[in-house]
Amino acid sequence: MRLLVVEDDPDINRQLVGALQDAGYVVDSARDGEEGHYLGDTEPYDAVVLDLGLPVIDGVSILEKWRRAGRKMPVLILTARDRWSDKVAGFDAGADDYVAKPFHMEEVLARLRALLRRSAGHASSEITCGPVMLDTKGARVTVNGTAVKLTSLEFRLLAYLMHHKGKVVSRTELVEHLYDQDFDRDSNTVEVFVGRLRKKLGADVLHTVRGMGYCVSDAGDAA
Ligand code: CA
Repeated sequence: MRLLVVEDDPDINRQLVGALQDAGYVVDSARDGEEGHYLGDTEPYDAVVLDLGLPVIDGVSILEKWRRAGRKMPVLILTARDRWSDKVAGFDAGADDYVAKPFHMEEVLARLRALLRRSAGHASSEITCGPVMLDTKGARVTVNGTAVKLTSLEFRLLAYLMHHKGKVVSRTELVEHLYDQDFDRDSNTVEVFVGRLRKKLGADVLHTVRGMGYCVSDAGDAA
């Protein structure tokens, strides 16, 4: 899962990016509204953390522009405490949730997990597919109840496919959601990681759909 953080306060920006990376996400960040708007407009993020008070373009205007342009990713806004009018303006502009500053990082992480799950159509924090279970809260994977050790990239790959269970995901889409903007992307490496993941999961769960991409689905589902 690839996230965007738009926050001008350098300390808060750094804390958010660090905590999100530790939680297993790929994160791009922007420190002003213009760059934030541009990134959200041109890169495919799974969710965005958007501060409202930003230099150049404010958060509400950014959100309005994204929504007008048809950008549908879930957006969590950061608002000043007790500024109810900020929250209303944010929701009216298309925000999905908010956290008031100063916030507890755990709350931001929990709300993002919920947004990511819901936007992919999952109500529970555990996503299962045959014998494989992805615990989005603990960032753990089990096969038949036994924990499987994955590298961070393997985990990101599986998490993305599990969130989009039953859907064929192209290699290009995977690359866009697994690496940040500065990474030298090579879609051929995805195949290598899929191979490793398939070995570790040891089950008929991760399918290659020739010429189209990859799909995680229960045995018997059309893939
Ligand atoms: Ca700010």
